[in-house]
Amino acid sequence: MTGRPLLNRRLDGLGTTIFAEMSALAVATGAINLGQGFPDTDGPESVREAAVRALRDGRGNQYPPGPGIPELRTAVADHQRRFYDLTFDPDTEVLVTAGATEAIAAAMLALLEPGDEVIAFEPFYDSYAACIAMAGAVRVPLTLHAPDFRPDLDALRDALTPRTRLLLLNSPHNPTGTVLTRDELTAIAALAVEHDLLVVTDEVYEHLTYDGTEHIPLISLPGMRDRTVSISSAGKTFSFTGWKVGWVTASAPLVAAVRTAKQFLTYVASGPFQYAIAEALALPDPYYTAFRDDLQTKRDLLAAGLTDAGFTVFRPQGTYFITTDIADIAPGTDALTFCRELPQRCGVVAVPNSVFYDHPTAGRTHVRFAFCKKEEVLSEAAERLRAL
Ligand code: PMP
Ligand code: GLN
Repeated sequence: MTGRPLLNRRLDGLGTTIFAEMSALAVATGAINLGQGFPDTDGPESVREAAVRALRDGRGNQYPPGPGIPELRTAVADHQRRFYDLTFDPDTEVLVTAGATEAIAAAMLALLEPGDEVIAFEPFYDSYAACIAMAGAVRVPLTLHAPDFRPDLDALRDALTPRTRLLLLNSPHNPTGTVLTRDELTAIAALAVEHDLLVVTDEVYEHLTYDGTEHIPLISLPGMRDRTVSISSAGKTFSFTGWKVGWVTASAPLVAAVRTAKQFLTYVASGPFQYAIAEALALPDPYYTAFRDDLQTKRDLLAAGLTDAGFTVFRPQGTYFITTDIADIAPGTDALTFCRELPQRCGVVAVPNSVFYDHPTAGRTHVRFAFCKKEEVLSEAAERLRAL
């Protein structure tokens, strides 16, 4: 097998995800893992029990229906009505996927032709670049700059070309914590309508917003109902990232397109967990409020610890993550080098935002810490970082 590289050209350079690399480093060194975003406390006992019941009762142990079980599709539609006053037909406008990750992949594979341009904010969640590449399309980054990480809407307009097919938006945004405002969304929607673009919105952190910040689905804005594919997932909202239950809500033609690709990726996944998440989505408001308040407290705890340790902290409005600048505490060091050395130096793992950019310098010294961990773990991590 000589000559031609085994990995096809589209995936060249994508290597191992930074999350896998950094979690492996945490295991190998025994460090506190504030890298990959997953909680160290599982979600509600009642939801776990619902999964156990489904397993025991033989619900979902065989292939569930391709679009997802009706109970979950109905629960997703009810959730969209309850939180956003949006109406979706559970039969034709909701699709259950193997996490948001599969939904993103299926949307890119379904909606793009080779050579189409996709505009996405950078730093971007790493699967975006891979999925756009697998679809043979071209990513066009729109850089969010520190300290505010707000989108530059003039730059967005300038980035549009006749080949632009799709905007891939993530709000609340991983890793910066930016939550798009109604004004920003309105401006983006106007451009999408003017240029007849499709929009895919990744809203997996929809319930993780702080200080009263409101998450507004772009699909709720005028002109967007039939051109937006809205994606979310249960992983973050219910602290079951391993269950991989996600969903798409969109117009029937868009759902049909995404379903066409999805059925050849996994066909279906997570049978018994679909029943449990259908129950989780219907949890009463105090669940959602308490969950958000708890994470906000953790954000504040870690932000204070990082500031104390000398990091420049960019306070996030949403997500699991705090982005920091290490320029002051590690002059001349880039984020990737810093993160590779950090476990040895002080027993903490973080993620370098630099790998989420095409821009050569914008994220060079930015490091992300996850705060979805027990308070004592966050305090211990902060203590260790102070000793740097
Ligand atoms: N989008 C973003 C922005 C994420 O941070 C993640 C990671 N959880 C995902 C999508 C993937 O979600 P899931 O685990 O549901 O596939
Ligand atoms: N979304 C998680 C993060 O940003 C990671 C998910 C994954 O490992 N693919 O940390």
